[in-house]
Amino acid sequence: MPHVDRPALIRRLQSIVGEPYVLHRPDDLLVYEQDAIMVNRHLPDVVVLPDGAEQVAAVVRLAREAGLPVVPRGAGTGLSGGAIPERGGVVVALTRMTRVLELDPEGRTAVVEPGLVNAEFTTMLARWNLFFAPDPGSQVASTIGGNVANNSGGPHCLAYGVTGNHVLGLEVVLADGTVAWVGSRGWDAPGYDLAGVLTGSEGTLGIITKIAVRLLRRREAVRTLLAIYETMDAACAATSAIIATGIVPEALEIIDGVTMRAVNRTLHAGFPEDAEAALLVEVEGVTDAVPAVMERIEALCRAGGARRVQTAASAEERQNLWKGRKHAYGSLGVLARNAIMLDVCAPRSRLVEAMRAVAEAGRRWDVRISNFFHAGDGNLHPNLLFDFEPTDPQFARVVGATEDIMRACVRLGGTITGEHGVGIEKREYLPWLFSADDLAAMRRVKDAFDPQGVLNPDKIFPTGRPVHGAPAPAGGDTA
Ligand SMILES: Cc1cc2nc3c(=O)[nH]c(=O)nc-3n(C[C@H](O)[C@H](O)[C@H](O)COP(=O)(O)OP(=O)(O)OC[C@H]3O[C@@H](n4cnc5c(N)ncnc54)[C@H](O)[C@@H]3O)c2cc1C
Repeated sequence: MPHVDRPALIRRLQSIVGEPYVLHRPDDLLVYEQDAIMVNRHLPDVVVLPDGAEQVAAVVRLAREAGLPVVPRGAGTGLSGGAIPERGGVVVALTRMTRVLELDPEGRTAVVEPGLVNAEFTTMLARWNLFFAPDPGSQVASTIGGNVANNSGGPHCLAYGVTGNHVLGLEVVLADGTVAWVGSRGWDAPGYDLAGVLTGSEGTLGIITKIAVRLLRRREAVRTLLAIYETMDAACAATSAIIATGIVPEALEIIDGVTMRAVNRTLHAGFPEDAEAALLVEVEGVTDAVPAVMERIEALCRAGGARRVQTAASAEERQNLWKGRKHAYGSLGVLARNAIMLDVCAPRSRLVEAMRAVAEAGRRWDVRISNFFHAGDGNLHPNLLFDFEPTDPQFARVVGATEDIMRACVRLGGTITGEHGVGIEKREYLPWLFSADDLAAMRRVKDAFDPQGVLNPDKIFPTGRPVHGAPAPAGGDTA
């Protein structure tokens, strides 16, 4: 921390947000030292929990005056280290701001505060037969502010689009402490799409304090099937075949055998014990149309070598399948003490090659990998499992495997992050995709919003520091 009179700073923060909402004792700060990435951590100097944009703005002005960085934070479920206060400073946790401020069920729009938990919002909307489409696997915990800041996806974003497709406008606190609206509450906004710029900016351009969203009406009918395969190749080829027909299911996920067995051990989800991959497919629509689409998908699954195709016969069976998918990450705890959930993309026509590269990286670096992912989007999530600490020299093998996988995806025409953001985790790899000129252009956007680098400094842009603090793995190719 720069030379700051800490007790005085704490008193001034308390006068803004109230004494109980300023955390400064070491035990309280511990909760905020990391997000779900698990392998990076850094304590903040102080955490504030404001209630409203004016309080956020006053905190930003004070931190700026004190020369301290400000790191916005939702639920801390991010998987790229975006909410980690790497340089200390002030963490602004938005989790007290959970109100639905406006709701227009007929017009299908709402204005919500950023700390509202995604799943709680959708549960609340059920009485109007509406829902908020972005459904990250973390939706029972992650906040809508965090979803917007990371432009999050989710299983059903295949058909509905990622968070940015559902954001109409934002209220943001800018780096100089002013409060501004970007976008609108209506269906279109004139001028530059600044809400689009702020969406996915990972807390580096502004702190989101209100979000105007569009809502969707629940479809009449929904059908879910699980197609079971002997090999990952076959499941990937079936996915590519479904996509090639032009059918867009609402969700098209792959879960591998390692994951299914782990989920069975924790949730008794009833996944097959002896299969190497399964496709979880969901189709929604009007009652008369859904069975025909489902039949075509089932035929494609069987033609692709599915050993068995089981359709959920009841809402309970459907929920059980999704529970298994959405709790997959937590279930990995039965396999290893630590995991890195990598987020990469490959063209959907090249899934077989991409997943072979994932398996090859695991073999080459002797790292166990489990997979469950948004196959229909070509968005892979290899989970690298390990039992040592990230400070152990062996961790270089894990980094080596992640780098091989990312390189393979780039080579195939994909990219190094699909939805989890760049944060700390991917920033050193951006030059694999962007030229120095590209990065300088992005830097000018950051500078236009935050010339002094107050907001979430060092995120997204390469720093030249080792990834996760690990030494560079020996023996990797250069990108
Ligand atoms: C089990 C599991 C499953 C997941 N599944 C998915 C998935 O399917 N799809 C997906 O996209 N992600 C997924 N994630 C990643 C993560 O949950 C999402 O990125 C989520 O949107 C983060 O929300 P959060 O509230 O936890 O944000 P945080 O982790 O607290 O913050 C994330 C980033 O947003 C910034 N931020 C947070 N709030 C604000 C705000 N109000 N204003 C400005 N910046 C802000 C932070 O600075 C940080 O950079 C998963 C994570 C886990 C642990």
